[in-house]
Amino acid sequence: MVEPVETFEHAGLLVAVHYDEDGESANPRNADNFGTLAFEYGVNSGLDDERLGGEEALRHLQIVCSDCGGSGYKLNAEGDDVDCARCAGDGYIDATIEEYFEEKFDAIVTLPIHYGDYGSSGARINSCEEAEANGVIFATKASAEMTGVPKAKYVEALEVEIDVLNTWLEGGVYGYVVREFEGGKVLDSCWGFLAKYLDTTDEGGWGYLIDEAKRAAVDQAEILKNTVREIVTFEVKMQVPFHSDDKFIPSADEIKKALYDGTDIDTPSAITVKRVIGANP
Ligand SMILES: [Zn+2]
Repeated sequence: MVEPVETFEHAGLLVAVHYDEDGESANPRNADNFGTLAFEYGVNSGLDDERLGGEEALRHLQIVCSDCGGSGYKLNAEGDDVDCARCAGDGYIDATIEEYFEEKFDAIVTLPIHYGDYGSSGARINSCEEAEANGVIFATKASAEMTGVPKAKYVEALEVEIDVLNTWLEGGVYGYVVREFEGGKVLDSCWGFLAKYLDTTDEGGWGYLIDEAKRAAVDQAEILKNTVREIVTFEVKMQVPFHSDDKFIPSADEIKKALYDGTDIDTPSAITVKRVIGANP
């Protein structure tokens, strides 16, 4: 395991936060999303690099001409076929990104986006003007019903999805490990947290990660405490024999100590020692 990005103590235990090297499991596009990402003419739910670079295609979007239904001609008053005025006989008209995705994919909201791959600096998606777009994110009535996004939040919901995706693209996937001490046995761990490093806002996700890690530490500390208690808690019953000389009867503390140390103790037969697991003395 690589060096942790953060370590801290909580509930007497050591918590280490690491990058999650298997970030794919946290790919936000694997979940049910409001928006669908589309690049060039392809539509995909994830990031398919093969389909990026479709700027040119997005500059020349066309939809079927609604005036002539795609035929390219119309009947004039004399009953003759003439070129459709709207599409000049093409049957297709130029469309904006929004019009195109509405026509082709029943989109109810569409945002032009720009995907930039900056090599070792990572990749990033930004919303942009239509002229700079090399992709879009759009949503449909069906995805709105599935995710429960209200109409007033359509654009905001898509922007949040882009932000979350950028966090993932930038490698913002973490996990925590709880140990009793450095190098000790892993008591608990959890991976696949999408978060922005040290960003404790709701959107940042870092606060949630740390809260979950602290909760795990508290739980593990409690388990450890109970584990120790099982070893050292005894119920000692002493029945003092009538005819015994007091000096031969060990005290309850002496019996506890003997049991704890695992040593033999010379007890009169009238003394019973009962070990109770998990109970308070
Ligand atoms: Zn037409």
